[in-house]
Amino acid sequence: MAAFGWQDGEIVPWDQCVIHVRTQGAMTGTSVFEGLRGYWSDEDEELYLFRVDDHLRRLEQSAKIARIPAPFSRAELADACRSLAVANEFREDIHFLVTYYLGLSDDLIMMTPTSDVVTSVTAVARGGRAITDRGLSCQVSSWRRISENDMPPRVKAGANYYHGRLARLEANHNGYDNAIFLDASGNVAESTGACVMIVRDGVVATPLVTDGILDSITRNTVGRLAVELGYELVERHIGRSELYVSDEVFLCGTGAEVTAVGSIDGLEIGDAMPGPVTRALRTAYQDVVHGRGGHREWLTHVYGEVAAEEPEALRG
Ligand code: PMP
Repeated sequence: MAAFGWQDGEIVPWDQCVIHVRTQGAMTGTSVFEGLRGYWSDEDEELYLFRVDDHLRRLEQSAKIARIPAPFSRAELADACRSLAVANEFREDIHFLVTYYLGLSDDLIMMTPTSDVVTSVTAVARGGRAITDRGLSCQVSSWRRISENDMPPRVKAGANYYHGRLARLEANHNGYDNAIFLDASGNVAESTGACVMIVRDGVVATPLVTDGILDSITRNTVGRLAVELGYELVERHIGRSELYVSDEVFLCGTGAEVTAVGSIDGLEIGDAMPGPVTRALRTAYQDVVHGRGGHREWLTHVYGEVAAEEPEALRG
């Protein structure tokens, strides 16, 4: 929890970030959102938003496909994120949710088009994960990933997470940490909130963007870092049994960052510890997001730029 949220253009107390139960956002999960991160740098005394414009561009694309009229521009939402971080005086790693919820239609029917949209930005502290010696245990899910022609996974829609939740809870019930989905054709797709990468003979491979995955910003980041570190990177179909014989498997996502997978369906991956490529990419990723590793173009200052111009929401 935090002191403040941002809703429809205003910084508001956390408890006032609410939508009506009768909205389409609440009833049918007709919302689109982005999860994005702010990383605190002790060295720079600065909070950096990571690839905020890329996240907000994906939000625009999700809203377009979901036919949710987007009331705010990318620049306005980026400002909202910065203002909110300042209002909450965050000086630590944080996680934002930026969401468009479809609101109430005139006839209060669940599927009637409406221009009523509730926009919210919230952020909470989210420290780095403890570096574990073991990787996650994953299960290949009995649920198939949603696909392009039913609920397109490209759209980061609230409703899609009903599906991820089924798989995550099934995996937890069966004693695993998380699940890996296959797509409708049986190729490896993604995990419940992160993309999947494998390493075989020094080559990093990840499913195609048409294999039932979210077009992940971390997948793009980690792929670029892998190439910069000298690894070959390929995007291709990955078969289920290939997971079992990979040297390394890891998940990547805004929340997951770079997280090693130690076993799948009870079969150990490598020696079940984070492997050398996973560790190298995890370090490179942490360096970049904290402002120590190049790619400054991916970072947006919170305090540096705001100091000069106090956000309107905080004046008087
Ligand atoms: N797939 C799903 C289903 C996700 O929820 C996420 C997290 N947003 C990802 C992949 C990773 O995407 P990103 O790197 O853009 O966070």
